[in-house]
Amino acid sequence: AAKSEGRGNFQFFSQAMNAATHERVMMENRLWQALGENQFELYLQPQVSLGSGDVVGAEALLRWHHPELGMVTPSRVIPIAEESNLIFALGDWVLVRATEVLAEWRRDGMQTLRLAVNLSARQCQGRELLPRLDQLIARAGIDPALLELEITESTAMRDPEATRGLLRELRERGIHVAIDDFGTGYSSLSYLKLFAIDRIKIDRGFVTDIETDANDAAIVTATVSLAHSLGLTVVAEGVETAYQSSFLRSRGCDEAQGYLFARPMPAAEFRSFMQAARARPAVVP
Ligand code: C2E
Ligand code: MG
Ligand code: MG
Ligand code: MG
Repeated sequence: AAKSEGRGNFQFFSQAMNAATHERVMMENRLWQALGENQFELYLQPQVSLGSGDVVGAEALLRWHHPELGMVTPSRVIPIAEESNLIFALGDWVLVRATEVLAEWRRDGMQTLRLAVNLSARQCQGRELLPRLDQLIARAGIDPALLELEITESTAMRDPEATRGLLRELRERGIHVAIDDFGTGYSSLSYLKLFAIDRIKIDRGFVTDIETDANDAAIVTATVSLAHSLGLTVVAEGVETAYQSSFLRSRGCDEAQGYLFARPMPAAEFRSFMQAARARPAVVP
């Protein structure tokens, strides 16, 4: 009895697993198809200087418009893409589109705006990244210093020696690097002196409760101070309230990004947003 029961459990487990695998494979196929059918879009979220109130850049965030599922967020797309070679094709699509956006901005007189692009771990490990960046930057005729690549601590620490080499190469080209979701990984701070980085992005998780949680407020204050001591700039993510913005500014945080200023939006909308911003005086809470 025990034996057949065991086999039964295995079959049950196996069926559940097949369903999950099936779902993943379906999703992966849909994503490949989506690439072919141009269903992806890069949304842009403004990054605001807390000193001047000006929009100084934007982060590019992937969106998928599925004909039936509607808009799908990257948290559902990236993990599936990461498990297959899709991440290389999708990551490449993002880089192509990002360099096009920088070229469009340049034509539209927004030639000082910086664009930040998220890189996935496997994209960083591939050998094609640097030559591809050189090619895309040349093709778009853009200033490499206006391109910023965001990597998380865990991506950076997967292979610290390789990351060190990659970041050195990026710096030689003038491409900027930001550490995304800073403080959410489990790595020691020593990587900060090892890697050629330009910026730290304070994770939304520390910003949300700044007003009520003294520990979060202390962590944010210390992070700004640490970053500046190391000669890095700081951007805060997920700023939603005037209190958060003024707290961050009072602590010397350089820039902020969040729903208080604007949600991520399509490129055409971003252009109108910038035109409107130019017409009115900048006011940062
Ligand atoms: P992230 O890079 O940390 O991006 C910030 C996320 O916070 C974005 O979510 C953004 O829409 C959201 N956000 C911005 N301001 C606020 C706010 O005030 N409140 C709240 N609640 N959320 C805010 P999104 O667009 O869903 O992206 C999620 C994650 O997916 C990103 O986190 C990034 O890790 C990844 N991702 C997005 N686009 C790409 C991409 O092109 N390539 C790769 N590899 N990853 C991407
Ligand atoms: Mg990011
Ligand atoms: Mg982040
Ligand atoms: Mg995040």
